[in-house]
Amino acid sequence: MARVLIVGGGIAGDTLAVYLERDGWEVVVTEIAPALRAGGQTVDLRGDSAEVLDELGLLEQARKRLIPQRGAAWIVADGRRLAEMPVTAFDGQGLVSSEELLRTDLARLIHDAAGPGVIRRFGETVTALRDSGSRVTAEFRSGDAEDFDLVVGADGAHSRVRALRFGPEENYRRPLGLAHAWFTLEEEPATPKLDGWFLLCNVPGRRALEARPGHPGQQEIGLTFAADTLPPRDDREAQFALLEQIFADAGWRAREFLDAARKAPDFALDTYDQVHMPAWHDDRVVLVGDSAWCASPLSGLGTALALRGAAELTTALRAANAPADPAGIPAALAAFESAMRPRITSAQQLPPGRVAAVAPESMLGIRVNAWIMRAVQTRLARPLVARAMAGTEHHRPAQTP
Ligand SMILES: Cc1cc2nc3c(=O)[nH]c(=O)nc-3n(C[C@H](O)[C@H](O)[C@H](O)COP(=O)(O)OP(=O)(O)OC[C@H]3O[C@@H](n4cnc5c(N)ncnc54)[C@H](O)[C@@H]3O)c2cc1C
Repeated sequence: MARVLIVGGGIAGDTLAVYLERDGWEVVVTEIAPALRAGGQTVDLRGDSAEVLDELGLLEQARKRLIPQRGAAWIVADGRRLAEMPVTAFDGQGLVSSEELLRTDLARLIHDAAGPGVIRRFGETVTALRDSGSRVTAEFRSGDAEDFDLVVGADGAHSRVRALRFGPEENYRRPLGLAHAWFTLEEEPATPKLDGWFLLCNVPGRRALEARPGHPGQQEIGLTFAADTLPPRDDREAQFALLEQIFADAGWRAREFLDAARKAPDFALDTYDQVHMPAWHDDRVVLVGDSAWCASPLSGLGTALALRGAAELTTALRAANAPADPAGIPAALAAFESAMRPRITSAQQLPPGRVAAVAPESMLGIRVNAWIMRAVQTRLARPLVARAMAGTEHHRPAQTP
């Protein structure tokens, strides 16, 4: 039986594991975290996501986990609302939709769909990849080494497989100039309630505080600010110190959020980057998801592209008659790349002003942004915007904080 190693048990990796196990592959998934990684804000269930989940027979279960939302509202530090966009805007195609669920719930759903044939190794990763004849030898952190017919790097934006096979991250990373911390806040009796609204509080100096609905009794918090580089990912104290320095005087619920960040088990901080690579495959090694093409959360499409990428890779492997005939795998990887490339090129083209609008520099910029959000919903502008959105499905920013 042909063997595939999937490095990274996130959305792309686990989706691929489900597909390939069903196709008769022997599947090994190594995930660096000690268990399935929880965390993340809402992800969009429209478009590619719904199609792929439907194909896997998971759409109805995903729909049962939708988060009730009423819309997005832009506020200022004293809590005043400058603009609102309800979920009904643009026939449900606006910034926030009624078809969103938490990334945690989606990751769990896909993870649980894998059968007993998927071998999972948590707390494990690859340290080297060597071509040996028509197979690839993977060396693991544990010291073991095994041969595989196919190795898939689904290990996210800071991919180890990419670094091992295609070169250092700096060669492919394009920072967008913003960083984002996200975590879950446990509501207490005194916590201001969101009532289904995703609240975005812009503060001069390119800062934004965000609170969106999560599971009952929880809120999903985001802190966005201008930065291209951050303290090391394993230095939590330096990360919290940076957030204190940037947000301590921001007003609104900044103090509450900074305290909650320290307590949150799912706290994460990263830059908003894109990953641009001239090729995602090399012989029998291929990248899928953020490792290959991260479009950044500002595209609103990270999850949809991860799901679609896993589906397209499966289609290409089936067409090459793998796993029955592993000889066709390299050609299948080339076919996968040709099928995915146009979609990724389109998704990575953020609309003009997209990055600046997330965190304007001045109060004037904040007011202009809010005015635009109101103006696009007026009766005069609505048909034009709706038409533009219909033509650029890839640019829907529903997943963005
Ligand atoms: C915990 C978490 C929260 C997120 N929250 C959001 C969010 O709120 N909004 C948003 O837009 N996007 C979020 N993302 C990113 C989003 O999931 C991806 O953009 C999208 O789903 C693409 O999925 P992916 O499978 O390519 O990458 P990811 O979902 O990032 O999955 C990558 C997986 O690989 C694992 N991994 C990393 N390095 C290694 C290694 N060396 N060896 C083995 N495994 C490794 C990671 O632990 C992770 O499980 C989040 C990702 C994670 C992991």
